[in-house]
Amino acid sequence: MRSLTYLLAIIALLSSFAIVPNLMAAGAGEQYSVLSVTAANVPDQIVERVKIPDFYYQKKPASIYFRGANTEKKVALTFDDGPDAKYTGQILDILKRYHVPATFFVIGNQVPYYPEVIKRMVNEGHIVAGHSWSHPNLSKLSDAQVRQEIIKTNQAVKSVTGKNMAMIRPPYGAIKGKEKVINQMGISIVQWSIDTLDWKSGRTSQQVEQTVLQNLSPGSIILKHSGGGNRSTTVQALPGIIESLKQKGYQFVTVNELLEIPAYRE
Ligand SMILES: [Zn+2]
Repeated sequence: MRSLTYLLAIIALLSSFAIVPNLMAAGAGEQYSVLSVTAANVPDQIVERVKIPDFYYQKKPASIYFRGANTEKKVALTFDDGPDAKYTGQILDILKRYHVPATFFVIGNQVPYYPEVIKRMVNEGHIVAGHSWSHPNLSKLSDAQVRQEIIKTNQAVKSVTGKNMAMIRPPYGAIKGKEKVINQMGISIVQWSIDTLDWKSGRTSQQVEQTVLQNLSPGSIILKHSGGGNRSTTVQALPGIIESLKQKGYQFVTVNELLEIPAYRE
């Protein structure tokens, strides 16, 4: 009964305002976990599962995501910690060979060193998103410091590509307490549903591929790394992963397409 009341309150609110309120949600498909609603006449903290009206999908504000809807055989390859001098380029070569788009969550302070790699990502149909300026644990920083990490990274990428990024993946996935300050900047937080653990030493490309296949489902967001260390396992595993998933009928899309959210802002 409580959830029905909240549902009606939210629908009434959404219908009566031209501007969608600041509503943070997580989940996939039709069901969203509403974490908080900041608007008049609605309780500040609501943790209920509610059905969001259809029109809301077109207007949904920045939020936090872990996977896409499970209705279509689509997956998103995502690469963290680039750009770098070696592995990011090798990954781009493989993606080009297979005509597969991906999303790169880049470290801001590396962007000025490798602007050509960033340009190449955009020119070859990939999406560039933020991964902070200096790879800190954002949940341990002040709100002002978090904003600085994001603004500096966005400025660095914009100066190279002309694009203003609207997605971030927090380093280590650590975001507790900072969701709101980031979403209020109009930036969505994109986590993952499959961690390939490709960064672990001693891990083989077969193990990385197996992890993907064992955890795969429509809407998966796959986490891999293109920089920040020796990524030869990631590079080795990539062709096999692409071929296996294509064989299973999966289509590769950029993560913003999977989530139906904007990658960049005006
Ligand atoms: Zn990282």
